[in-house]
Amino acid sequence: MLNFKKKDLCIEQVKLSDIAKEYGTSTYVYSKNQFINNFESYKKALGVRGIICFACKANSNRTILKLLADIGAGADTTSGGEIYRCLNANFNPSKIVYAGVGKTFEEIEYALKNKIFMFNVESLEELDAINKIAGRVKTKAKIAFRINPYVDPDTHSYIATGKKGTKFGIPYEDAVKAYLIAKKKKNVIVLGIHSHIGSQILDIKPFKVAAQKIKKIIDDLEKNGIGLEYINCGGGLGIKYSKDQKAPSPDQLMSELFSVFDKDKKFIFEPGRSIIANAGYLLVKVIYRKFSGGKNFLITDAGMNDLMRPTLYEAYHEVMPIKKINTKKVKTDVVGPICESGDFIGKDRMLPVLAQGEYVLVTCVGAYGAAMSSEYNSRPLLAEVLVDGNKTTLIRKRAKWEDLLSNEEQK
Ligand SMILES: *Cc1c(COP(=O)(O)O)cnc(C)c1O
Repeated sequence: MLNFKKKDLCIEQVKLSDIAKEYGTSTYVYSKNQFINNFESYKKALGVRGIICFACKANSNRTILKLLADIGAGADTTSGGEIYRCLNANFNPSKIVYAGVGKTFEEIEYALKNKIFMFNVESLEELDAINKIAGRVKTKAKIAFRINPYVDPDTHSYIATGKKGTKFGIPYEDAVKAYLIAKKKKNVIVLGIHSHIGSQILDIKPFKVAAQKIKKIIDDLEKNGIGLEYINCGGGLGIKYSKDQKAPSPDQLMSELFSVFDKDKKFIFEPGRSIIANAGYLLVKVIYRKFSGGKNFLITDAGMNDLMRPTLYEAYHEVMPIKKINTKKVKTDVVGPICESGDFIGKDRMLPVLAQGEYVLVTCVGAYGAAMSSEYNSRPLLAEVLVDGNKTTLIRKRAKWEDLLSNEEQK
């Protein structure tokens, strides 16, 4: 939803220079209509065949969660804290699913007491824990097993989760055995099967290969008298971070996957990145400029604590000035203020020569941006602003230096 009003770059109808003036920098800015549209295109593609559960680890701001819950989203959660946030944001518990290799007993009890829809169970020991706790709190736990289908998508190794040798899910060859064990548990209802093979996947092929392997398990289970109602295809659909990338649509993904399974099945999808990434921006200010070692540097007020993806995954995010400038472009490293060489936003970018105090915008940071930020270097967490048409709303206050000390007593 980026566009120019004369020389000013805008998100929806709001000039970024006005946002900088009103809220300061650095600031996360979200286009409400962009993520609503992204969600609607998933919803439309799925129709009445199941639930779209927003993977809220991508962005768990309570206003963003509330807006998604309001338009019928379910939630894919990975911790008790995320379930707490989602209940607070008014998600229907019957649309909350819960994955994760290390669910604690406290988290399991909390999820059961709040009647979430389904646990995506990742080990037999976890199954035992869920069965026991469900017995204790006198309820039945609905479960799917998360299966590791041994598929290697073409993505960064840190976000490939469905390969042999990762910690995730039940090993492919043990899947049927796991269901036979689960069937005998008194306090467990076997409802589905789950796989999530990784993130930022731009090719539909690995999704389809995983689906075919899951179909094979479903067939084997049917031979053993176990029918499953829900197929959870996980998340992971990639987005276009740079101009030379192409991302499939939810519709393309689903029509490929639906062709693998029988018509009566219900589906769950757990998109995170593809809902919120391209709706989020980081607005930063140029503090200093320097020329060193044959390179131009723009030193900004956002560091790797605010946006970790470049440092952690060597991720690419486009960087652009917020005014149309026609001066010549020079090769520039855009970096943060933190004492680490890994603290950069973008390297070797062709950018116009900017003055001190001017602003640049980092794009597609709505997923795993604010959500992964920390106070490293004792830098308070950033403000977050929502844009809706010509209106802006502060959806997270900028933290203050005092906040850094708020949980520490001086002993
Ligand atoms: C992270 C995660 C997702 C979301 O992945 P995206 O790439 O953000 O769509 C979905 N399901 C599970 C189990 C996850 O861990």
